[in-house]
Amino acid sequence: MMHQAFFVEVILPFATPKPYTYHIPDELRKEVQIGVRVEVQFGTGRNIYAGIAMAITHSAPGYTTKPILSVVDKEPIVTAQQIQFWQWIAGYYMCTLGEVMNAALPTNLKLTGETTVMLNPEHNADFAALDDKEYLVAEALLLQKELTIEQIQKILQQKTVYPIINRLLMYGVLELKEELHQKYKPKTALFVALGGQWSVVGGQSSEISSKQNDETITEINESRQPTTDSLQFLRKAFNATLKSDKQTQTLLAFVQLSKKQNWVKASDLYAAAKVDIAVLRAMEKKEIFVIEEKEISRVNSKGEEISLTTALSATQAQAVADIKTAFETKNTVLLQGITGSGKTRVYVELIQEELKRGGRVLYLLPEIALTSQIITRLKAVFGNDIAVYHSRVNGQERVELWNQVVAGRQIILGARSSLFLPFQNLSLIIVDEEHDSSYKQHDPNPRYNSRDCAVYFAGLFGAKVLLGTATPSVETYYNADIGKYGWVKMTQRFGNATLPEIQIVDTGAENKKRTMLGNFSPQLLSAIKDTIAKKKQVILFQNRRGYAPTLTCSNCTWTFDCRNCDVTLTYHKHLNAMNCHYCGFTAKVPKECPACSSPSLLLKGYGTERIEDELKIHLPDARIARLDLDTARSKINFAKLLDDFEAQELDILVGTQMVTKGLDFEKVALVGVMNADSLLHYPNFRAAERAFQLLTQVSGRAGRKETAGKVLIQSYDTKHLVLRDVLENQTERFYERELKERERFQYPPYYRLISVSVRHKKYEVMAASVKIFTQLLKNGLGTRVSGPAEPLVPRVNTYYITDYLIKVERDAERIILAKKIIADAITQLQHGEGFSTVKIAVNVDVY
Ligand code: ADP
Ligand code: ZN
Ligand code: ZN
Repeated sequence: MMHQAFFVEVILPFATPKPYTYHIPDELRKEVQIGVRVEVQFGTGRNIYAGIAMAITHSAPGYTTKPILSVVDKEPIVTAQQIQFWQWIAGYYMCTLGEVMNAALPTNLKLTGETTVMLNPEHNADFAALDDKEYLVAEALLLQKELTIEQIQKILQQKTVYPIINRLLMYGVLELKEELHQKYKPKTALFVALGGQWSVVGGQSSEISSKQNDETITEINESRQPTTDSLQFLRKAFNATLKSDKQTQTLLAFVQLSKKQNWVKASDLYAAAKVDIAVLRAMEKKEIFVIEEKEISRVNSKGEEISLTTALSATQAQAVADIKTAFETKNTVLLQGITGSGKTRVYVELIQEELKRGGRVLYLLPEIALTSQIITRLKAVFGNDIAVYHSRVNGQERVELWNQVVAGRQIILGARSSLFLPFQNLSLIIVDEEHDSSYKQHDPNPRYNSRDCAVYFAGLFGAKVLLGTATPSVETYYNADIGKYGWVKMTQRFGNATLPEIQIVDTGAENKKRTMLGNFSPQLLSAIKDTIAKKKQVILFQNRRGYAPTLTCSNCTWTFDCRNCDVTLTYHKHLNAMNCHYCGFTAKVPKECPACSSPSLLLKGYGTERIEDELKIHLPDARIARLDLDTARSKINFAKLLDDFEAQELDILVGTQMVTKGLDFEKVALVGVMNADSLLHYPNFRAAERAFQLLTQVSGRAGRKETAGKVLIQSYDTKHLVLRDVLENQTERFYERELKERERFQYPPYYRLISVSVRHKKYEVMAASVKIFTQLLKNGLGTRVSGPAEPLVPRVNTYYITDYLIKVERDAERIILAKKIIADAITQLQHGEGFSTVKIAVNVDVY
């Protein structure tokens, strides 16, 4: 009897046009299920991958199949719904399933021939529990720092190694080399408590704030009831310090400071008793004290804890009711609440109600690093019901979380990629700051916008989507306006807070009067001084990092350009180097002009570094810090910076758009925008939208709570309509005008926009392919194609680039057709002789 062969379609973790089919050897038949990883070979030799089993069939493909080598997982790691979601993304954003898989899976679940493994430095290896093969790998890693897949295959003398590697990863014995990264360390400090067996009195969990620093120990802290035992202990302890005045002083200070809490910050003791760590350590030896490093998180500077469980304001209660009503008829609702209206509190209310009903919630945030404040606050409310998923979480934890989602955690908080977690069910997705462009992945594929994906994804579960923001994207505003989405507004700030007073400073006029001090107008400078004098804080926004964007020769007009890109190099003072913001190329700062040998080199323009420098000259006593990609590159640094600013250990924060996002600092009374013009005149159809959002958001950082806020915007173009809208708080006027413009020039939301860029290292190849490609596109799409056009930066990272913009009517069938024409044109071009190396990037719904 002929037995029936089984085949499995496998998604491979790279760009192949279609999933690849393998046959299943008899002995593996029982183990293969949809959603497990299977180990397969692709191409030649040792190219081994873990792919996802996507479908099991009896029908052989048109080619000779290879067998799958092993089955990596006992249980599926990907659900059927996820595979459906991946397929939708691949179709909608015109990319391959493999590329979606790459974006979706955490690194530790992606095994390829290039994988390199190391021992997990945090693992206390108990090798005794490992089986023979696992042990061999672990042992080899003790001798050799890292191993490639190929080396492991040699050690084990077998081809199939992924199941073993996978188990070792799950045990936490191994770590992938790719995963090695800076680990985020929460802010900690040394704390002191009474030692000895009497020190632990209660056992309740409570948060107690220290008197001096308004800080909270976010850890189990025992309740504080003096008992006879502890009094006895104290007496004994005092006796033990009799020989040392310093120790007695310290103990007395401790008793004073510990009236409200068991753990006292070591630095408070240093200050109160004029001692140092040596004294504390000596007392620790005598078992009078125990000393521990503990995590601290700050509460706001008035010492009150920021709570998200306090009563809703009337506005908030109304919003909650309106949202619920809207959800009765709409799947997606826009919550448009002005900055400081307390949207987070509204989310919390909705989440709590959702959980009561047994629902599951996904809370999306644009950038996790920038929203540590919100995370801390939400964790305080939801404790263990909430799990955070983002790139700062290390590899193993991320896989654990992946598995927990399978097991069912109630609330997941995460950045755009958390949409890829294997949810079993979901009833509500909250997209906070829905307008934020970091929801869109720009490069590489899949170039998806997780706000839009959330709407589709929710549909798979019958879940609702809440889009929250003060400044909706024009698309979302439109969808609310035409009634496709529900629309709920909050127009009052929470509490007594009022919107800040905004003023525009005419930089041109000040220039003429020669009153500018470097890049500061006298108005801005004096406002800064006033604010600091009142012990309030300042945020300054400058949309460019580095010191100066251009180095030029004042004699012959030579400029220092990147050798890989068509842009000038930016001067970075702290690096003392020239740096390209497109490709990362760095060069030394020349002493004289390489073209004419003149020594008169000039720095033109300014970035955050220069602003910081000028400020230090104008305000030598102010405590200034800079928040941009350069200072935030280290996550530890970043968190510390925000902590310090919140604790008012800094007066001024100078930064790029990072400072515009969602931060909630009570003492910020002044926001300064150094130069609005670069925002207003950016050559992009979204420039007005971006400028409006940015200026409104950055203004929103001022005057939260009782601190009255002020915003100063420096600009040459004081009559610009967008500036007027921001100034007069005319949100609706802005959107209505912008919508008209978009309609007139056939831009989103009225038309869909797909950009296609053609790239090649050789200019001639790029130019020749553009000739053919233009024809192919125009044959199918006619006047919907704009271009070919040279982009703003026509060469990036040694690639010459040409762009097309394709505008398609918002009609499902037309869009599908247009995408097909584009896809066919690409295939045809790349099959043409000499063009197989041309790179083409398609970006659907350009952001
Ligand atoms: P938004 O995100 O809308 O700009 P936030 O959610 O950051 O506003 O809230 C602004 C401030 O008001 C925060 O400091 C928050 O703690 C406070 N707040 C909002 N709602 C309440 C409430 N119901 N009770 C107490 N404080 C609140
Ligand atoms: Zn010169
Ligand atoms: Zn460059």
